[in-house]
Amino acid sequence: MIKNIQTYLVLLLNIVFCFSFVSLAALYPPPQTISSIVPVNDTIIKRAEWEKLACLGVQCELCPFRCFLPEGSRGICKVRMNVAGKLRTLVYAQPVSVHIDPIEKKPVYHMLPGSRIFSIATVGCNLKCSFCQNWEISQSYPEQAKTSGQMLTPAEVVDAAIKSNSHAIAYTYSEPVVFYEYVLDTAKLAKQKGLRNVMVSAGYINPEPLKKLAPYFDVIKIDLKGFNEQFYRKVVGGDLKFVLETLKELKHLGVFTEIVNLVVPGLNDDMDEITEMCKWIHENLGPDTPLFFSRFTPQYRLGNLPPTPVETLEKAREIALKSGLRYVYIGNVTGHSAENTYCPNCGQVLIRRYGYAVLENHIRKGRCIFCGKEIPGIWED
Ligand code: SF4
Repeated sequence: MIKNIQTYLVLLLNIVFCFSFVSLAALYPPPQTISSIVPVNDTIIKRAEWEKLACLGVQCELCPFRCFLPEGSRGICKVRMNVAGKLRTLVYAQPVSVHIDPIEKKPVYHMLPGSRIFSIATVGCNLKCSFCQNWEISQSYPEQAKTSGQMLTPAEVVDAAIKSNSHAIAYTYSEPVVFYEYVLDTAKLAKQKGLRNVMVSAGYINPEPLKKLAPYFDVIKIDLKGFNEQFYRKVVGGDLKFVLETLKELKHLGVFTEIVNLVVPGLNDDMDEITEMCKWIHENLGPDTPLFFSRFTPQYRLGNLPPTPVETLEKAREIALKSGLRYVYIGNVTGHSAENTYCPNCGQVLIRRYGYAVLENHIRKGRCIFCGKEIPGIWED
């Protein structure tokens, strides 16, 4: 009898809780969600992974935001949505950018120098960098980009990559994390057909989804935007700690990782912070991690700032080399000597570059031809 009363009480409490939640949710929609602005066409949506059922909605477990999505709402990334109680991706097989690039453009310097890479992106990003170079696609809604979009299934991407004589596929330009299902299906197929995979990402992803992607990736390029939590929250719209977790996880998973840091004048060019960042990379990822300091050019919300002085990039590079990192580059300064790869043992130029062009390559079987030092990376197909 008492047991029955207890059961009824628990049931009653649950009902009361759920009703209060409905009223509260109606009054105060969760801050991490945004409503759909345009009705979504059913034919283009696909079930998304990393869904967790929640009371009166679903939760997306793909990235650290863990958006709670009541029916009809989208996540911060604008491309994942609760449609009829299920988490859906709105961008599967709908790239808005498809290009064949030199791999140096990613920039990836320690994989098949001088090779072509078939590059794709959909709209969407889970971060909001004020200096985004691709904000037209990263900050768009799928509906806004639809006119320029095209359907391209994973099999079609792989076929097109092979026909274009590309050695690899890059998931790049916007944020591949938010088109996760498309990335995963394409990368799996690409591997089966003998292609390599490269992802260029801000690293804002949870460890479990990352673990599932990792086996299909040869190189992951992480855009580490600074080394200051406040800067990350204010200018990037995320937390630095999660990106550092991703970098450690990649090391643990054994995925070859390169890092790029876009140096923005007055925002993340503090040399003490850069020193801290280099120390952290050295200690946690090792001295062989390639690191790029890239030049900012005024754009998007930071059109009022000047381009990064080359001396700032040179100072940052000097700090990184002093901290023990062996492969430190300067990006977006065509013709700079720090575009080259140097042998850390004998100091000879191993790969001479000019912008995206590779002029000389003195690495054979993964070693410096002058002194035999092993150079980390993927040098032969
Ligand atoms: S991937 Fe998008 S929907 Fe999912 S948690 Fe991140 S921002 Fe939210």
